[in-house]
Amino acid sequence: MFTNLQDKLDRAFKVLKGQGSITEINVAETMKEIRKALLDADVNYKTAKTFTDDVKQKALGQNVLTSISPGQLLTKIMSDELSDLMGGTVSELETQKNPTIILIAGLNGAGKTTFSGKLANFLKDKKGKKPLLVAGDVYRPAAIDQLQILGEQVGVPVYVNRESTDPIAIAREGVEAAKRDGNNIVIIDTAGRLAIDEALMLEITAVKEATQPHEILFVVDSMTGQDAVNTAKAFNDRLDFTGVVLTKLDGDTRGGAALSIKSVVNKPIKFIGTGEKMEALDVFYPERMASRILG
Ligand code: GDP
Repeated sequence: MFTNLQDKLDRAFKVLKGQGSITEINVAETMKEIRKALLDADVNYKTAKTFTDDVKQKALGQNVLTSISPGQLLTKIMSDELSDLMGGTVSELETQKNPTIILIAGLNGAGKTTFSGKLANFLKDKKGKKPLLVAGDVYRPAAIDQLQILGEQVGVPVYVNRESTDPIAIAREGVEAAKRDGNNIVIIDTAGRLAIDEALMLEITAVKEATQPHEILFVVDSMTGQDAVNTAKAFNDRLDFTGVVLTKLDGDTRGGAALSIKSVVNKPIKFIGTGEKMEALDVFYPERMASRILG
């Protein structure tokens, strides 16, 4: 994970690690290198600049220059700052409402349907919940089939209405079905598009209005770099989502988007997808991610 960024940061840190003493010039130069590494890894400019400025301020404030191991201290400051940038603490998913309604949004191929299955599996197995999946992608029959297969695989029922082409009605029916059948979680998978378009936004906004979800999770492919940040911003402007799911973090991803998304949209990253299997889902721990980035 974050291999590119990590390699570059490692190189930048070499200047500092193990050095007995460093100068303010060393700090400034290292920060410049780190900013470059972040920009190369698709972190947007503002995030990278704020990050390095903050770290520099803290480094100078905490007497890094006169400390016994300046490299280690600076690494700690950076790790804390990175963790803060990504939310600081674990952001829990709301699951206590009965039923808790969770709307899944994002572009085509981001991993929405896969994540819907994974989340149902996670809530059933790890939280003892009784979820219902709702197949809201009416444009692609294959998407409905896919969700049904995943539902079967994880032992969670799927609400399907193949007669209807109205995603708003289907979402509503799904919530009603959950109430009737005693499901305490409703996960509504929605249609994506190849790119942001007005029809998509109107539709997903209407589904939101109709179902009043407690959580709206925006699913984004972590391999899409800076585009991931732009898409997150566009969806958040319209949907005011409650959390982000970063998928495909098992691949050769560029980690920059993960850092930027939180700071650009100011919404927590709640889960990460680490593979195609139904078990390949992790809660997002900012500290773990920070130490992973820094190595
Ligand atoms: P949707 O169009 O947003 O519903 O996307 P899908 O759920 O159909 O996922 C698109 C492709 O990405 C599928 O081939 C999934 O198996 C794959 N995929 C989804 N999440 C992950 C992940 O975390 N890691 C990997 N490696 N592949 C994933």
